[in-house]
Amino acid sequence: RTSPYGEPVPAGTTSALRIVWIYPDLLSTYGDRGNMLILGRRAQQRGMPVELIEVRSDQPLPTTADIYLLGGGEDGPQALAAQRLIADGGLHRAVAQGSVVFAVCAGYQLLGSSFVAKGTTCAGLQLLDLHSDRGPSRAVGELAGEIDPRLGLPPLTGFENHGGRTHLGPDAAPLARVTTGIGNDGATEGAWRGKLLGTYSHGPALARNPALADLLLRWATGTSALPPLDDTWSDRLRAERLAATRAA
Ligand code: GLN
Repeated sequence: RTSPYGEPVPAGTTSALRIVWIYPDLLSTYGDRGNMLILGRRAQQRGMPVELIEVRSDQPLPTTADIYLLGGGEDGPQALAAQRLIADGGLHRAVAQGSVVFAVCAGYQLLGSSFVAKGTTCAGLQLLDLHSDRGPSRAVGELAGEIDPRLGLPPLTGFENHGGRTHLGPDAAPLARVTTGIGNDGATEGAWRGKLLGTYSHGPALARNPALADLLLRWATGTSALPPLDDTWSDRLRAERLAATRAA
């Protein structure tokens, strides 16, 4: 048996960390596969076997995975993804059983109660206490923020490109306070509650924010700390982006 990275899985290893990428055929505008690869790789570097599962929108969602990933998407595919996820019901069951969800942009918006796509208000999954409407302009560019201190992570940096604005209810906490860019509304960025976390930081956000990847792995495995990895390159990129946005 080999891992998704072609390395041998130790004999006798049975319970792999199961990571599901939801609807790559609809929600994968910004290289969202990268988030699955980063999570899988970082788990494996800590000796955890992983199973990477891609579930297309015409397939039923497995309900027993450890981590579910939702990516970004344009309005049409986003609306379709929400309809199919509501009809499927599997993500609700998985969340009720304590699975971790990491959602980016369109995937983040559809976790709320409603969002706007192609001028129409669409029903969301109601898994996070938030709703999204449309802003005065598209939010495009670098995004940075100070993450909720309760999560104990370094500043978030990323790239955003969305027309929606997101408004949080009392049961969702902002993921970060914006220092550059727009995020939810120019003041806060993303949201989290329990083991659900959404962000406007696009595509392979976890490549730029490996500490966020490790938070999801800790939530999924119930461990309070993971052995450190060499994150020199992403640390340098973060320092460079934060310096550039401060200077701008
Ligand atoms: N269609 C959504 C919006 O524009 C999400 C876009 C995205 O995922 N990049 O707000």
